[in-house]
Amino acid sequence: MNLTENILPSSIAPATLLLPSPSLFGTRASRLRQLAHGHELAPWLNGLAALCDAQQRALDTLPVLTGLPAGNSARPPLAGPVAALEQALPAVVHQLFAASRGLPLSVARVPGVEELQRSAREGLRLAAGEVAAGPRDAVAVLVAAALQVVWTAAARTIALPSMTPLQDLAPCPCCGSAPVGAVVMAGEGKGGLRYLECSLCATRWNAVRARCTVCEEGSVVQYLGLEGASGAVQAEACDHCGGYIKTFFQDKDIQVDPVADDLGSLALDILVGEQGYARAAPNLFLGDAEPV
Ligand SMILES: [Zn+2]
Ligand SMILES: [Zn+2]
Repeated sequence: MNLTENILPSSIAPATLLLPSPSLFGTRASRLRQLAHGHELAPWLNGLAALCDAQQRALDTLPVLTGLPAGNSARPPLAGPVAALEQALPAVVHQLFAASRGLPLSVARVPGVEELQRSAREGLRLAAGEVAAGPRDAVAVLVAAALQVVWTAAARTIALPSMTPLQDLAPCPCCGSAPVGAVVMAGEGKGGLRYLECSLCATRWNAVRARCTVCEEGSVVQYLGLEGASGAVQAEACDHCGGYIKTFFQDKDIQVDPVADDLGSLALDILVGEQGYARAAPNLFLGDAEPV
């Protein structure tokens, strides 16, 4: 018997996907506050931090989701409208609305049923990368934040196995949405591994480094960063398709969060945009790649 062959696959093969942490939003709130310190967009970042705290409370108190699609089909089980999730959404929207009162990101009115459904559909299409972020108001951001809570809870409930086979190109294996960015991990056993993080359900899935996530061409990716910055945030730009997504390096800063650090590095979007590259990754807290 060849012991090496028997042991190696399970002991060193990287997990193809990582489930979102139960404290995802609270951790993100802390990161946003940290990034806000001395930042020119501090009031906006702090407002979003408060929204993330509200997302965490909503996740913690969300009733157990039932009637979810099984996680064994070839298609991402939570792709597109899912009845069980749409039913859970209005209560979360109301909870976030109540929590937003008195905060910088306060929403003046609670959305009606039709507006909520329309905003939810737009949010899902934005997360899927089917539409670019147009002008978005506070209601759209609030509904998108609620979508993240419900889809993250569902991703944790379904709990796809960590060795789920992945499709080649980048939709989230759990919900079919586009990634918000990539994380290059640090730490024993996973140092250098690159994971994409879903813009909607926060599932992370393994993706080969130095290959364009947008068009899959391998040889034309270059990294662009801000001069004088730590190097923890870099844009992975592709000369083949002209798209870019941001990559966050844990070895430069172990606390990077793809959503928070994306919002904290909009100066990089301006720089990369000036060089002719187009943003390919949705962030549900952005409209037109501008603060909402
Ligand atoms: Zn997802
Ligand atoms: Zn490309």
